[in-house]
Amino acid sequence: MHQRLAHDLDDLPALLQATRDYATRVLAGLAERPVAPTPAAVEPAPLPVGGAGTAGALAEFERRWAPGLSGSAGPRYLGFVTGGATPAALAGDWLTAAFDQNVSNRAGSTAAALEDETVSWLRDMFGLGPDHAGAFVSGATMSNLTGLAIGREWSGERLGVSVARQGLAALGEIPVLSGAAHSSVHKALSVLGMGRASLRPVRTLPGREAVDVAALADALAALDGRPAIVVANAGTVNTVDFDDLRAILALRERYPFWLHVDAAFGGFAALTPEHAHLVDGLGGADSVCVDLHKWLNVPYDSAVQFTRRRDLQVAVFQNTAAYLPAITGDPDHCHLTPENSRRLRALAAWFTLAAYGVDGHAEIVTRTVAAAHRLGERLSTLPGVELLSPVRLNVVCFAVPGDVATVLRAVADSGEAFLTPTVLHGRPALRAAFSNWRTAGADADRVVEAVRKALSTTCP
Ligand SMILES: *Cc1c(COP(=O)(O)O)cnc(C)c1O
Repeated sequence: MHQRLAHDLDDLPALLQATRDYATRVLAGLAERPVAPTPAAVEPAPLPVGGAGTAGALAEFERRWAPGLSGSAGPRYLGFVTGGATPAALAGDWLTAAFDQNVSNRAGSTAAALEDETVSWLRDMFGLGPDHAGAFVSGATMSNLTGLAIGREWSGERLGVSVARQGLAALGEIPVLSGAAHSSVHKALSVLGMGRASLRPVRTLPGREAVDVAALADALAALDGRPAIVVANAGTVNTVDFDDLRAILALRERYPFWLHVDAAFGGFAALTPEHAHLVDGLGGADSVCVDLHKWLNVPYDSAVQFTRRRDLQVAVFQNTAAYLPAITGDPDHCHLTPENSRRLRALAAWFTLAAYGVDGHAEIVTRTVAAAHRLGERLSTLPGVELLSPVRLNVVCFAVPGDVATVLRAVADSGEAFLTPTVLHGRPALRAAFSNWRTAGADADRVVEAVRKALSTTCP
């Protein structure tokens, strides 16, 4: 054994203790760490030859890289839609690496059954039915891609073609209809060979990001019975708008379509009685995407995908080979998603659900939604600031006087908060998205103050 490896094996308890102590110090300072100022460039180092051992690597990481890492796990990183890691999720993630299971198959380990249990807990939490099966993937992009791939196969089934076997050329274009599809849907359509142009935007309701169901019905009618995929949104990124899933489901009596719901973070509306109506009908979807590294607050990267047609899923993703078990009964996970080898990604989610239950996670949703409302109310009292949409759930979308990029940079460089830009109905705007388990009302107040200062310096 290489001498550094042999030494680290002997010294493992002390090395893990040192790593734990360092992580504890990092997390203790997280709430006050500068959130995301522009980092200084790090001088590249050459490929190590002899190696420095774990202790040496830790010292080098701490010195060279850690100072420039953002506080994205903390309470005032409100860019994109970003979660942190609950204590239990962090513990579960550490143990994922310690056990280092390959959940490609069910042989010789309970790991796959643990993933199945976690998926069934999530299915119940999001109000899906027993006919929804699921699997873990790396993020909502992969979850959307998986759901759309199954929808692609379903379209082929309707027309007597196996896309998995014959390829998309045997089928031709599959129309994909959506009101305000997330960018990852465009990307997935490109990867799946369906093409970005297969996405046909459907009119949204006036001043909204929710699809106009009457316009959707017209678009479906114009297809003359050709199968299509409808991508419904349960929580858009700008204004957290929700399509009327019940009304869309009712269209299935008249038109053949696969209903995929992108509920990346909006799915968490199901956890609280005040907001559950927003995802009413989710259980009727053919495939559903929910991100877990956002509002469930498990570490990157983690999402779940659900479908009611596991047979078509296996048709698309099967990975049969002489040395792998034949597909009987519950398929191995390598037959369900784009990956073959995969980590026990479910363990962090299992830990946080086991530790805090639905109640604990509903409290995170309720508290972060309250923080978003508080931010919205207080921002709208600042001169020139205008909310571009009511705060429906956990995102505040607002316009400022002056240049958005300049204001955002001033906020970020204050170290107090991090927000991201967008364009809503043609207007440049800022977004603050709340999904971190640590965030409280006092954080919203600090963000208001940071925006007020940024405005007073950039457009006095
Ligand atoms: C975040 C998000 C995605 C993409 O998620 P990743 O986890 O970054 O792959 C897709 N759809 C919606 C609505 C999202 O919010």
